Amino acid sequence: MDYNYDLLVIGGGSGGIATANRAALHGAKVALVEKGRIGGTCVNVGCVPKKILWYAAGFAEHLQRARDQAFNIHDSTFDWAALKTARDAFVSHLNARYSTGLADNGVTLIHGYARFVDARQIDVDGHMIRADKIVIATGGRPMWPAIPGAELGISSDDFFALETQPRRIAVVGGGYIAVELAGLLRHLGSEVTLLLRRDHFLDSFDVMLREILMKEMIASGVDILTRQKVASLHRDGQSLTLTLEGGQKINGFDTVLWSIGRRPNTDNLGLERADVVRDQHGHIITDAYQTSNQSHIFAIGDITDGPALTPVAIAAGRRLADRLFGGMADRHLSYDNIPTVVFSHPPIGTIGLTEMEARDIHGDNAVKVYSTRFRSMAYAFAENPVQTGMKLVTVGAEEKIVGLHIIGDGAEEMLQGFAVAVKMGACKSHFDDTVAIHPTSAEELVTMR
Ligand code: FAD
Ligand code: NDP
Repeated sequence: MDYNYDLLVIGGGSGGIATANRAALHGAKVALVEKGRIGGTCVNVGCVPKKILWYAAGFAEHLQRARDQAFNIHDSTFDWAALKTARDAFVSHLNARYSTGLADNGVTLIHGYARFVDARQIDVDGHMIRADKIVIATGGRPMWPAIPGAELGISSDDFFALETQPRRIAVVGGGYIAVELAGLLRHLGSEVTLLLRRDHFLDSFDVMLREILMKEMIASGVDILTRQKVASLHRDGQSLTLTLEGGQKINGFDTVLWSIGRRPNTDNLGLERADVVRDQHGHIITDAYQTSNQSHIFAIGDITDGPALTPVAIAAGRRLADRLFGGMADRHLSYDNIPTVVFSHPPIGTIGLTEMEARDIHGDNAVKVYSTRFRSMAYAFAENPVQTGMKLVTVGAEEKIVGLHIIGDGAEEMLQGFAVAVKMGACKSHFDDTVAIHPTSAEELVTMR
């Protein structure tokens, strides 16, 4: 067959861009198709605008801490619209940088919606493209609840388009997005009600992290309603009313945010015409080398069932390009020990097994846990000091570290270096042998008894 490209990448988000650039650097003739704004979820409606708001919320906290440290700060107001304008400009700048980067590497960027015609041909808005290899990196989208009035609420995509700050918001869900957006909005001054269908959030996280975060979010003024399912949403004039499954009504919200998970964008791609197999959630099934059941079609990022994180999509894509075009026959991503941060208030950094997982897998006798909870010196004069918590989960006589969990100021930056140690197979004795840096919170991780 006569191919237009060595590689066609569908989706110009974190994973797609990384794959296309790396393949082109290896000398492949590459095209990338993107239907929307280049950069995908992370840049446009995810990590980037979220992190800017998280920083803003952090400044609000720091203003309070500055007062604790004898600064005279009386009035401090926050201008949501002004920050949104600056944030949008920053995102546009990133969009342009990604486009330029692709062009500099010789990747052809095609704007349009890609659909498989068959296993070898892709239709992009009426233009037919044939490629020797095809990488699908179409990401995900927010899920909406199937309840009456759901359309009166907003998704995280809509959240980043809000021109005014929610005054009173209900956040429904208990995953990353729910705790991150609920936390930052509260610190920016919104009244926040968080509705969980369980008695806790962040279900897959270590219990210590969940406990401390729950306590601190409540202390910061987030109203957390547990074991509550929303039955419907309706509008009364200017205000939104949630009806819970028990019949109870909660009213007075100007915004309701659904953050109940995301779904892979694999349903309108014509995958059935290419005979590409998906699981029951719509994720494309791949082997450890990101290869689908079709040997020339690959999938990376949020459309696979791995952790839905930007660096995971990037790492999987770059390794795939190295393997396909860089002569590195066995290169692939190991999905073990992937570090992750929740940009909550306070933030969480975590890698490896939770204490419960370790006990289930290795048995109680093999597991030894070291943990500590303390108030950072940053809160020495604070009326309401925020707690820090750290836990090392170790296994076996050599006390190999299989889980490392941090919640507290700086956790988001602390984790990366410790993740290297865990990935290298560090044991507790290696931590003990490392001289502490004083006075820091991180030193507790190498001084735990
Ligand atoms: P995406 O980045 O979603 O890119 C997919 C692209 O494909 C999109 O641009 C889409 O328009 C395009 N596309 C889809 N279908 C087609 C088609 N048929 N034709 C052409 N183009 C198509 N991760 C982190 O690591 N850290 C964070 O702090 C973080 N924060 C987040 C905050 C929020 C609110 C959200 C929603 C996500 C966050 N994530 C974070 C997750 C991260 O954004 C995703 O894991 C990452 O973007 C996945 O990359 P991807 O390449 O798989 O997909
Ligand atoms: P998550 O999968 O993290 O969480 C979904 C949450 O929604 C769960 O708490 C779940 O509850 C709850 N839920 C599901 N259905 C309902 C329902 N009908 N009613 C009420 N609650 C419901 O999804 P997110 O959308 O928060 O995030 C998607 C992914 O994006 C994350 O998993 C993460 O990989 C990535 N992300 C990463 C970030 C980071 O790296 N900092 C930040 C934001 C997103 P239950 O626990 O009961 O099942």
